[in-house]
Amino acid sequence: MATNYEPTIGLEVHAQLLTKTKLFCPAPANFGTEPNVNISPVCLGLPGALPVPNAAAVKMAVQAALALGCTVQLKSRFDRKHYFYPDLPKGYQISQYEFPYATSGKVSIELDGKTKDIGLERIHMEEDAAKNIHASNTQSTLVDYNRAGVPLVEIVSKPEIQSAEEAEAYLRKLREVLLFVGVNDGNLEEGSFRCDANVSIKPVGDKELGTRVELKNINSFRFVRKALEYEIARQEALVSGGGKVEMETRTRSDGQGKTLPMRSKEQAHDYRYFPDPDLPALVLSQQYVEDIKSTLPELASAKRIRWQQEWGITAYDAAVLTSHPAIANYFETTSKIVANQSEGKATAVGKKVANFVQGEVLRHTRTSGLHADFPLSPEQLAELLIMLFDEAINGKTAKDVLAEVIATGKGAAAIVKDKGLAQVTDTAAIEEQVRAVLKAHPGEVAKYREGKTNLMGFFVGKVMQASQGKANPKAVNETIQKLLNEV
Ligand code: MN
Repeated sequence: MATNYEPTIGLEVHAQLLTKTKLFCPAPANFGTEPNVNISPVCLGLPGALPVPNAAAVKMAVQAALALGCTVQLKSRFDRKHYFYPDLPKGYQISQYEFPYATSGKVSIELDGKTKDIGLERIHMEEDAAKNIHASNTQSTLVDYNRAGVPLVEIVSKPEIQSAEEAEAYLRKLREVLLFVGVNDGNLEEGSFRCDANVSIKPVGDKELGTRVELKNINSFRFVRKALEYEIARQEALVSGGGKVEMETRTRSDGQGKTLPMRSKEQAHDYRYFPDPDLPALVLSQQYVEDIKSTLPELASAKRIRWQQEWGITAYDAAVLTSHPAIANYFETTSKIVANQSEGKATAVGKKVANFVQGEVLRHTRTSGLHADFPLSPEQLAELLIMLFDEAINGKTAKDVLAEVIATGKGAAAIVKDKGLAQVTDTAAIEEQVRAVLKAHPGEVAKYREGKTNLMGFFVGKVMQASQGKANPKAVNETIQKLLNEV
């Protein structure tokens, strides 16, 4: 339904940096340990404890900013953002407000074959709060301080997103960039990548933005889209009916994509930001930034373009193979070994590896965060495919052997040797089998010679069967043709 209104969306993403320790203290930053063990006097907010910035976190934050095309500010500042809540033991969060470490930048999204750049307003570093666990059975709230002080970057987009679909594409692309830089594990369920959205509507063509509503805690790509679609429709119905959108914070209601009021502007916080006196300005050198820039890993979007040229794979294959950094690495490592050690040309090797990875390997692959568990190593897959390219085995045997490698963990060459699966390329042996097949089927031979040339497949099948699938199919074809054409 066409409406007279158009939505404007801005997204704020909090992404956890994958450091070993927290942003301002040496307590471990990992997820999933028992509650309240990853703690120190600093992240518990004990009196007199002083924060010290984590160099690894700063480096990852700068990597993320550069990968997103941001300008890194050589001088930035940590501020205190005050609010009172049990998950914030100090009574303030250390964040960056007036002087964030990165500004501008963009996320390029692709929808319906068109590319659109969504501008970034800023990225700042901040510490995460602890986690409140509301135990409904005891009507009590438990606090887990493991998450308090974990390093985050908050990535704030410009209000340049114009539909729920674009918002989803933006988040997927942003997640992909952070994953391929290796600074975030993109885990929405565990909350290491989470999103808040600002949404407003305005009459089509108007310059001035409407009153915005903030949507909190959107923790899946599906909900992003559903919650935004719901909220846009809600605002349109409200305004069309003569009502006014109130400035408020809403939260999604589980399962339905609906949004429900959380707090109105009257209850909105006044954070009373001021510079944190415990932390001097964060000063980076130009050289430091340049060094990080020159060692940034290749991003998925660049791999997709390069692979289509270098490895001859399709855009679709390239998209599947860049769905996770470990899968991308697996594909390219395998392709390189096979191309270096076999007779195969790069484009033929790339296509074959792409087929085997998508057709066989990914079915048995589990990813979790940045990690992936493959059923066999790139070296093991390469060993098999080298034999295929060197015509030591045929395609059918390769698939069977791969299943065996996955099931037993044995090397492909050993399996081929033990089971006697090596391809028969010996023309004398093949010729003998072809003669036997032709002799056994005189009727088919006669029909073939009368012009029923589609019987070719029948003969090939019989010979392959007789060779237990080991004959070189190309040699079989040629030999049958040769013998059938002999009078
Ligand atoms: Mn924040």
